[in-house]
Amino acid sequence: MIPFSPPRIDDKIIAEVVDTLKSGWITTGPRTKKFERNLIEYSGAKSVLCLNSATAGLELMLRWFGVGPGDEVIVPAYTYCATANVVIHCGAVPVMVDIDEHSFNMDVSKLKNAVSKRTKVIIPVDIAGLPCDYDEIYNFVNTPAQKSLFEPRNEIQKTLGRILILSDAAHSLGAVYKGRKTGTLADISVFSFHAVKNLTTAEGGAVALNLPEPFDNEELYKFLCVLGLHGQNKDALSKTQGNWRYDVITAGYKVNMTDIQAAMGLVELERYDADTLVKRKHIFDFYNSSFKNDDRYILPVYENEICKSSYHVFLIRVKDINEAQRDEIIQRIFNRGVSVNVHFQPLPLLSFYKALNYKISDYPVAYNNYMCEISLPVYYDLTDDMLIQVINAVKDSVDEVIEKSR
Ligand SMILES: *Cc1c(COP(=O)(O)O)cnc(C)c1O
Repeated sequence: MIPFSPPRIDDKIIAEVVDTLKSGWITTGPRTKKFERNLIEYSGAKSVLCLNSATAGLELMLRWFGVGPGDEVIVPAYTYCATANVVIHCGAVPVMVDIDEHSFNMDVSKLKNAVSKRTKVIIPVDIAGLPCDYDEIYNFVNTPAQKSLFEPRNEIQKTLGRILILSDAAHSLGAVYKGRKTGTLADISVFSFHAVKNLTTAEGGAVALNLPEPFDNEELYKFLCVLGLHGQNKDALSKTQGNWRYDVITAGYKVNMTDIQAAMGLVELERYDADTLVKRKHIFDFYNSSFKNDDRYILPVYENEICKSSYHVFLIRVKDINEAQRDEIIQRIFNRGVSVNVHFQPLPLLSFYKALNYKISDYPVAYNNYMCEISLPVYYDLTDDMLIQVINAVKDSVDEVIEKSR
């Protein structure tokens, strides 16, 4: 069976994890701090905080911005549930917008119908690793009409003076938009290092800070270290260095990254551009050239004049099929020994959001893209022979199901 997305665990990763275990320091410490510095250097963000997940990072930043009951946060209808769940955790309302058919990303032209005076944050999601059109999003929130609609409820919101752009960059570490990397494209960007992501620390995430003047991103980093560790003004490592006495300044969260996770991240980041992304691009190009001459398929956009993807997942669509046929194709692909997936079920299809009265009929593009979508495997250890097996399994299964429907 060809798996969908196994992590790359080789001797280098194992050696660095073992070194960490033997070092005597396994929770947040020198390796986490080094991973943060390396992520700053890699992305160009002004500061980076590592955490135990992207979900924690998104929620921490919503809490920092003071999002709560009475507020609205705009999210795409087509994303992983984490993007909207964190809004619910804060007691605010996720307002969903439909996506652009070609990119699978939030349709920026639909923001004007979703925004209200209660909107505090927009969370664009770089689906499959392709950055959203951030210039268009900023143009929108910076228009005088939008700025005067914005109603700040605290000092931080007053200082920003507009809707916060909190990018869900869970898929898009290393992706490029107009010559700039993710981490610098939004006020705040959140990366995921979950086991299936491009760069993994088993579980993990990072918040890349890039807030405009007069925000001090370095000061904010220090505050977030405290907010992410019970509001304790000294972490475990600094308590070992003499003065034991600490204080708790707020009822903070517990979302710090461990040095064992950071050990994996350090090895992965070092080889990310020169090795990981090269391999992932090769896989995307291989799929692209194998399917592009068959007009039954719609291929994903992963490079254009302004963007370069991080090649996270390959979202292929089959023309003129319905959801049941798509599911049958997937079953037949599995029967041929290949794991595929669907990214994602639009949120209004999920029981929780359905019960809150979100209706899939309000997001027709999200549904149309979803119902005929199949995510193909993309990972470091996938060889060309395996790719050929995947492609044949997909083509044969599609042939059979389309033939049956005639
Ligand atoms: C994986 C994912 C997340 C959550 O990342 P975790 O690190 O698992 O919390 C958030 N958003 C999207 C789009 C994702 O795919």
